[in-house]
Amino acid sequence: MNAFDLSGQCALVTGANTGLGQAIAVALAHAGADIVAVGRSAMDETEANIAPLGRRFHAIKADLSTTEPCARIIEEARDLFGRCDILINNAGIIRRQDALEFSEEDWDAVIDTNLKVPFFLSQAAARVMVQQGRGKIINIASLLSFQGGIRIPSYTASKSGLAGLTRLLACEWASKGINVNAIAPGYFVTNNTEALRADKERNSAILARIPAGHWGEPQEIGGAAVFLSSRASDYVHGVVLPVDGGWLAR
Ligand code: NAD
Repeated sequence: MNAFDLSGQCALVTGANTGLGQAIAVALAHAGADIVAVGRSAMDETEANIAPLGRRFHAIKADLSTTEPCARIIEEARDLFGRCDILINNAGIIRRQDALEFSEEDWDAVIDTNLKVPFFLSQAAARVMVQQGRGKIINIASLLSFQGGIRIPSYTASKSGLAGLTRLLACEWASKGINVNAIAPGYFVTNNTEALRADKERNSAILARIPAGHWGEPQEIGGAAVFLSSRASDYVHGVVLPVDGGWLAR
């Protein structure tokens, strides 16, 4: 038996149209999962990557800046696939500004999308997973779940909060057969880090600190997501797993 096999399972991935979410959806599909891709943008590219693998694919259009669509998303996935086995809370945003100038709007937008919605989507998914007697929830955290950073106060607060929430939900739901864990990506080549990579000085300072010597490529996150989605991690609860080229070890 392959403990990493996800055949017949339904995996819901938020923000799966691009970047890390797309790479995770493709990795889960490679491991056998059917994919429900949730987000506000078209999922055509992700679907094109998954179709040749012979998995089922369904896109749900939803704006995840508010909790309004959470219950509907899980219902739609369950109606279509009959189950909800894996939830990847990946959709996220970042706003950069000095803490002295930071606006309430930039605070609320980031906290709502990165922390509030993942909680209520997890709640809706866990209500189904409890009935199934098992399920896997993976929150996409950040190095800012461990470190302070600069000029991103609401992002650091949201990702530090997400790490705490991961531990709380793991404690409440482990006995119900649900594993709640997080992945903390290091510095990856996606839209999210475009501004950092464009800043020559920051770019070379970051590169110099990464023991692996390169920015992460989105496909380098897939293995950790498959592990935490599979039976191989059934006794793993409440961890925040860095996938960071060694950044935090430095
Ligand atoms: P990205 O900007 O390419 O992707 C973000 C995704 O979230 C997109 O699919 C976007 O459509 C979706 N999204 C944002 N707001 C949404 C909304 N209101 N409704 C629906 N979807 C919404 O960036 P990424 O790097 O792929 O980010 C994915 C996750 O990884 C984020 O949570 C981010 O914080 C986290 N992360 C990224 C890095 C990195 O180095 N790239 C590092 C640490 C953590």
